[in-house]
Amino acid sequence: MALVVKKFGGTSVGSIEKIKSVAQRIIADKDPDDKIVVVVSAMGDTTDDLIGMAKRIVRDPYKYPREMDMLMSIGEQQSIALLTIALRSMGQKAVSLTGSMAGVKTDSVYTKGKILDIVPTRVQEELEKGNIVVVAGFQGANEKGDPITLGRGGSDASAVALAGALKADVCEIYTDVDGIYSADPRIVKGARKMKEITYDEMLEMARLGAGVMQLRSVEIGMLYNIPIHVRSTFTHTSGTIIRGEYTMEEKNAIVKGVAHDTKVAKIAILGVPNNPGIAFSIFTALADAHVDVDMIVQNVRNLEIKTDMCFTVGLDDLWQAKPIVERVAAEMGADGVLVEEHVAKVSLIGAGMLGNPGIAAKMFGAIANQGVNIDVISTSEISISCLIKTQYVEKAANAIHEAFFPSKEV
Ligand code: ADP
Ligand code: ASP
Ligand code: MG
Repeated sequence: MALVVKKFGGTSVGSIEKIKSVAQRIIADKDPDDKIVVVVSAMGDTTDDLIGMAKRIVRDPYKYPREMDMLMSIGEQQSIALLTIALRSMGQKAVSLTGSMAGVKTDSVYTKGKILDIVPTRVQEELEKGNIVVVAGFQGANEKGDPITLGRGGSDASAVALAGALKADVCEIYTDVDGIYSADPRIVKGARKMKEITYDEMLEMARLGAGVMQLRSVEIGMLYNIPIHVRSTFTHTSGTIIRGEYTMEEKNAIVKGVAHDTKVAKIAILGVPNNPGIAFSIFTALADAHVDVDMIVQNVRNLEIKTDMCFTVGLDDLWQAKPIVERVAAEMGADGVLVEEHVAKVSLIGAGMLGNPGIAAKMFGAIANQGVNIDVISTSEISISCLIKTQYVEKAANAIHEAFFPSKEV
């Protein structure tokens, strides 16, 4: 007997036919004693379509985040009902639960909620009755009972957190690729499938744009030490396991993969008086608005009187970040603020890269050989990232991948 949480993403339930075949697969794969919880996303592009409707009313509907959550949480509710109808019509006992009914308790940060706790009493009761429990991903409720969504791709977080709360044996993430690759297989031709990856490496891949797993979901998996199996909805081949630390020998394979992120914007504040507390003011104001900041660079010019500062934010956060930065920049007497939206981040990820300076040189060389200019560079213990123009991202990702994972190995 196993307790398994299975999550099916948007493309996996993108049509009624697909919902029916997901139901068939769940039933076929289930041993009689297994306890199965299924987390589903909204069908196909439903979430984008819902956001699109709000945008037809107002350019920036996220100014009304509570109503956006009310709207976006509909998508998953449609999926749980349809999948449960499919399961029941095939003779399987099943019941659908919204995030709130499943006990997913969140903070009150609308559209970017975090799961604070899961009290899965109802889920356990339904499992005991022999039901497959179909839970809406991407949503929970705050203490007032308002629906709160968990950020784009948030059904992954719902699934992994439920697996943690239920002490499941494994969390299976079913998607439209058959595992985690050394780069996005849709963009990089020679991308290689991995058998395993550590939580740390997957965290960094996800942080730097590998959308196959939502960042927060990997953090939760790491916290609860839940093995996560990322695999295909459409084939039966085994996928990639995300798990704990490698041994020293395994660490020898230094470079793990390439990630890219086109949903990035660069903000530059020009001519900031070089006084103590400037960075503090800017980044506190952004943090208060829950805007994540990355690739922070500050340089000094004009005999240390003035400094320029630049950093990146997620493109989805730009509408919020821009007025905040403009206000703080004006208050501190900066010369101006420049925003660039057509930028992308391309990154190399791997444990133990620190202390191997040749790796950074090889990466920059691969980009230079394509005639692509690097705007900003940033490093972490397990990654190197370069900001480039969006139009070159595919070219750069392929070139970096080819440099580290040559297709014709001798
Ligand atoms: P779902 O709807 O199932 O949640 P997503 O679109 O969120 O699916 O995630 C799957 C997609 O992630 C793949 O189609 C692929 O293009 C993309 N992806 C990005 N980086 C990687 C990677 N390193 N390995 C596999 N897939 C990746
Ligand atoms: N439907 C949500 C989204 O599109 C959540 C998810 O798919 O994981 O972001
Ligand atoms: Mg996803």
